[in-house]
Amino acid sequence: MKGLVTGLGLTFKNLTAKKVTYKYPDVPLEMPDRFRGIQHFDPEKCIVCNQCARVCPTDCITLTGKKNPDPESKMKLVIDTYDINFEICILCDLCTEVCPTEAIVMTNKFELASYSRDDLFKNMKWLNDNNTLIRQENNSAMPKVAKGGAKE
Ligand code: SF4
Ligand code: SF4
Repeated sequence: MKGLVTGLGLTFKNLTAKKVTYKYPDVPLEMPDRFRGIQHFDPEKCIVCNQCARVCPTDCITLTGKKNPDPESKMKLVIDTYDINFEICILCDLCTEVCPTEAIVMTNKFELASYSRDDLFKNMKWLNDNNTLIRQENNSAMPKVAKGGAKE
């Protein structure tokens, strides 16, 4: 009997206590701003320097450049394709750290669950459209790339 009373006491106490659980996925989780989430890629800022692909420890970035159609631009190449294979990306942040123009930046998003592995292969359009919840430090003063390829 004493155990029952103690148990009920605990139950009623916790009924009014502050909740420690989240209503995820009905209510999205707010991640801290330094969270390393799925990247956003901006093709207009990319100078096709290949540094992100070279630094990537899992070789999950594939990119190609093409001849710049603007003959007056100092940039000989512009980005043509840019893909990340999220089957093997470990969201280590190295690609965004090394990018000189912040063409690739981290977001606070983490949801990539899928029934097919093929869905984890994201192309340039997908990465470009992934443009919400960008880290504050990258979102506030996004540098533009001058025609010569340097940050403005
Ligand atoms: S976060 Fe790391 S593993 Fe993923 S693409 Fe960038 S460098 Fe590669
Ligand atoms: S490091 Fe940045 S600018 Fe260079 S290829 Fe990668 S995304 Fe483009």
